[in-house]
Formats: sequence, structure tokens, C-alpha cells
Amino acid sequence: MGVLTRISERVYWMPPGPPDRPSLCAVVGDRRTLTLDAGSSSAHTGEFLDALLAESAARPSAVVYTHSHWDHVFGGAELNGQVIAHASTAEQLIELAAVDWSDEGLERRVAAGLASPQHAAHVKQELPSPRSVEVAPADVVFQDGLEIQLGGATVRVRHVGGDHSADSSVMFVEPDRVLFLGDCLYDSPGGALTADLAFPLHETILGFDAAFYVEGHNESVSSRAEIESLIGKMRFAENAVREGSAVMEQDEDTEHFLQAFRAGQSR
Ligand SMILES: [Zn+2]
Repeated sequence: MGVLTRISERVYWMPPGPPDRPSLCAVVGDRRTLTLDAGSSSAHTGEFLDALLAESAARPSAVVYTHSHWDHVFGGAELNGQVIAHASTAEQLIELAAVDWSDEGLERRVAAGLASPQHAAHVKQELPSPRSVEVAPADVVFQDGLEIQLGGATVRVRHVGGDHSADSSVMFVEPDRVLFLGDCLYDSPGGALTADLAFPLHETILGFDAAFYVEGHNESVSSRAEIESLIGKMRFAENAVREGSAVMEQDEDTEHFLQAFRAGQSR
């Protein structure tokens, strides 16, 4: 069970957990509380809401999504508030709602090569069978970005795209200087990174004057120096793949990025 941590004056964070639960944040303003991503199921979101109520006495009135992947949005209905999403995320929420999420449906998509066995296993574990999935549609839709005033805190939402998902958006919380990244820095569901999408994204991310960086599936909140180091490893790996140069000593991150840029190159 995830523990809620107050990472700055206004921002509470629940770290990721099994099977595929992502980081969730709540920004508690004087007037309104906003949730950043909704969680993987009503159970996950319920745990988050209970912990938030206990820690801050706040109840969120809205949620804004980083992207439409199931693990970030299936808990949306449980929040019982306004759903704010990029136009393309909003379209995909409608599509997700029409999908057959039964065991049979999941297995059919795995057999057809449309979903990975791991994806099906995660959904089954998060939402025991027989499952009913209610995907809340978007109430507020933005294109490039949006500013949300909560009273004493402002959340700037910006669409950033990237290899992981073209609909990816990030949220910058001021004055706390928290940047909520979702999965935008990660590789595609097929395991690929490309210079064309990753490099402009890196510039955008580093353009925010943030002090705390919250990634979708990272166990800890990162500092600016840690994010710069991570992006440095990606640049190094991309360069090595492009030049075809041998890399002698490599850590786990670099090895992963080398594989992803190789996959991106041969795409
Ligand atoms: Zn994702």
C-alpha cells in the first residue's frame, strides 16, 4: 500500500506500486485541490483519496491527465470530479471505454498481438475478475496547454508528446517548482526511443525551472541534477548508437537507453 509523502508546501505524492500503479500527486490550493493522474483502479484511487484526506483534509475537485494509458486513468471515475485532458487523450478515453476488458477480451488482444502478456497480467492483477471498467470521459479539453488556479498554487499544464505516447502532457506546479512528468521520458510501448522526439522533449523539460521531478514509475522524486544526469545518459546512448561506437562501462540506465535508441533507429 502506497504511503503519501508531502514533497513541498502544496504537493502530496503517492509513489508507484505493483502491479503497474503510477505516481499520483495532489496539489492542495486554498480554494481547490487538483489531482495529477487518477490511478489504475477505483481501489488504487480510493487508497490515494483516503490517505490525502487523512493527511491534508483535502478532497480533489478535478484531475488532469498526463496521458491516456490505462494505469493512469482507470481510477478517474472514483474521483467524482472534473476530468481535464489533452484533446488526443480525451479521444483515447472514449476508445478505452469501448474496449472489452474481460479476461476473454484481454486474451484475445494478446493472441492478436495487440497487447503484451504483461499488460494483460497487470490489468488482471489490478482489477480482479469479473471486472467492470468505467472510464470517465474528459470534461475539459485543451490543445497546447492550460493554467489552473487553485488559490496560492498554480498548475501549468503543457502538452509535450514524446516517444512514450504522443498525447503526453506535463504539469508544473508553482510556486512549489514541482514538475509532474508522467511517463513522457520513457520509451514507446514497443521499447523505442528516437532522437527526433526525445531531444525536443528534453529541451522542454529542462526549460521548466523545477526543483522536484515526479516520474510515472520512479520510486523516488528526482532533483534537477538527477534529471540532467538521466537526460545526459540518453544523449550519450543516442550518440553511441548513431556513431556505432562501442560502450565499455555502462550502468543499467545507459544499457536500457542503448537498447531503446537501437530499437528506435531500426524502426
Ligand atoms: Zn504510460
